[in-house]
Amino acid sequence: MNFDVNTIREDFPILKEKIYNKPLIYFDNAATTQKPKAVIDKIVEVYTKYNSNIHRGVHYLSNKATTLTEEARQIVQNFINAGSEKEVIFTRGATEGINLIANSFAEKYINKGDEIIVSELEHHSNLVPWQLVAKKYGAKVIKWPFNDKGELSIEVLKSLINDKTKIITVNHVSNSLGTINPIEDIIKIAHSKSIPVMIDGAQAIQHIAVDVQALDCDFYVFSGHKIYGPTGIGVIYGKEKWLEQMPPYQGGGEMIDTVSFEETTFNELPFKFEAGTPNYVDTIALGEAIKYVESIGIDNIAAYEHELLEYAQKKLETIPQIEFIGTATNKTSVISFNIKGIHSFDAGTILDKMGIAVRTGTHCTEPVMQHFNINGTIRASFAFYNTKEEINELYNGLIKVIELFG
Ligand code: PLP
Repeated sequence: MNFDVNTIREDFPILKEKIYNKPLIYFDNAATTQKPKAVIDKIVEVYTKYNSNIHRGVHYLSNKATTLTEEARQIVQNFINAGSEKEVIFTRGATEGINLIANSFAEKYINKGDEIIVSELEHHSNLVPWQLVAKKYGAKVIKWPFNDKGELSIEVLKSLINDKTKIITVNHVSNSLGTINPIEDIIKIAHSKSIPVMIDGAQAIQHIAVDVQALDCDFYVFSGHKIYGPTGIGVIYGKEKWLEQMPPYQGGGEMIDTVSFEETTFNELPFKFEAGTPNYVDTIALGEAIKYVESIGIDNIAAYEHELLEYAQKKLETIPQIEFIGTATNKTSVISFNIKGIHSFDAGTILDKMGIAVRTGTHCTEPVMQHFNINGTIRASFAFYNTKEEINELYNGLIKVIELFG
């Protein structure tokens, strides 16, 4: 494989940091990824050379910043294979994207008694917005439960769909378990009943090649910071046919066409959904992050991360005290587990002192924890800059945790 992890690690300045005088081992990539120098440099470059509010500016800097922002939109469009740049909307992140879709879609299409199918595997960001709009319009959120491996069944979905179903929303990849969901099949089933599907891609976009036209999804959202880009920037892909019909989510800024005291008309897509001064600096830096990912190749990334997952899985399986939570057949590089008799916070705190960053707790998926009747897990999530040597250190660290707690 054309993949030299040591060369790649040179691109990420933070990986040289010491934590408590120990080399940083960063296994919290599902929460946020580290940034390559190209992205950090781009942010500095924009503020140093091109900073100016975008759109409708007549001067050089404004035009330059606008051009760079719209170039970033094209980079995103090509990366996910959206049919048009009108279908790529910039948001603050996946959460804002889902709130926008939920509110705007519901205002147009959800009425009293309607049903919204939400999987039990969702991050709170893809459950709470739907609960809020369901309450507002008198609709119902229908739980699509997963099995004990952490997998969703198409047969169960079929049994939940009925004439009242207005939208199905599901993640591409579960953040707490790493399950890769069969979104192609989900979308086919939904479309056979003319039901649109929203995919929360926050945990997929950095691991799996996404082609929104091939998937035929109606909406796909993700956050920049999970794909090696900055925080505070995210993307909605939406089919033009829906976005054209949906009302604006917020008012003000570039989302207007004309305004009088009596009436406002709205701008065309995608600007109709981008109210206020956009986060153009981080938009441009997100474009840089995607270019960086493309230079390595998402398929190379997926293959290497799968190698890391299998290596870690085999290694941790040799520790009898470990109980794995979520054992789906198709997974990204996320391992969730508990150690018998040891609270995940205690384990995480001790690993931290060894320079190993893992996430502990509910991972913003309390319904997932309730399903397993646990109060949290230890989650190690790997990125393509991680190594097998680091996984060996995690193994050694866990052995020490177990020894310490007797
Ligand atoms: N959806 C999933 C599956 C996630 O993992 C996350 C964040 O962890 C989100 C949504 C929310 O993303 P953000 O906090 O970047 O808006």
